[in-house]
Amino acid sequence: MGGAGLDGLPGWVTLLRAPNPGPMTLDGTNTWVLRAPGEDHGVVVDPGPLDEGHLARIAERGPFHFILVTHGHHDHVEGAARLSEMLGGTAVLAADPAHCVGAEPLDPAEKLGGGGLEIQVLDTPGHTADSVCFLVECGNEQVMLTGDTILGRGTTVVAKPDGDLGDYLRSLDVLAAYGKVSMLPGHGPVRADVAAVAREYREHRRERLAQVEAAMAAGADTPEKVVDLVYPEIEPRLRFAAEWSAAAQLDYLRHKNRESGTPADRLDRL
Ligand SMILES: [Zn+2]
Repeated sequence: MGGAGLDGLPGWVTLLRAPNPGPMTLDGTNTWVLRAPGEDHGVVVDPGPLDEGHLARIAERGPFHFILVTHGHHDHVEGAARLSEMLGGTAVLAADPAHCVGAEPLDPAEKLGGGGLEIQVLDTPGHTADSVCFLVECGNEQVMLTGDTILGRGTTVVAKPDGDLGDYLRSLDVLAAYGKVSMLPGHGPVRADVAAVAREYREHRRERLAQVEAAMAAGADTPEKVVDLVYPEIEPRLRFAAEWSAAAQLDYLRHKNRESGTPADRLDRL
């Protein structure tokens, strides 16, 4: 573990956790500061919410080449424009042009260089349509920043309005192909092996899909009815998230069944 810090992180990675804990954010949003040894300029990933104290703590660790955003949910990007301003106009790079400041949108498959860091942008839609991951290399060490595509614990939500379970499963396949790379998630703790966690997530999704398929066969035809059957113990405050997941699973299964249906089934649906 050359250069590893207390929690197994390489010495060039710092975690600043935003003070926004909650049912969807776990302990709060993880803001990551990356700076290669001996370099003046670092890189920030996911500035987090518009919280002046949190943003000031990030700014103290500047200067930065740029600010990266994993996806457009407000708990990751809300503070980005303000942080850029505090830093005197540092560019914000996101896949969605709406969140960029002074830069073109990220091009998936793009490689960004900055002060001893090599950053590969991976197109990983599913949690949202604009979700990307960043594979960052510094010397002979690599980390994968996964945003909300994979969290440090629990599962993520294929979120309304633009999440898509088919895309999400393909994105997990992409991450599962990476081997043993440390994973820096948007929420929750660091994990030692992104590929292993991606495989666990895939397995969990398959189990859930089988349960939803059984619920559909038992007559559940709305997200509400699926949640009643598949997540009977759900906490009331998390029910909306379970209904989002159920809606995404119903969409996915209906689409799959249409594609694999018999010709007669297809005619029925014309
Ligand atoms: Zn999110």
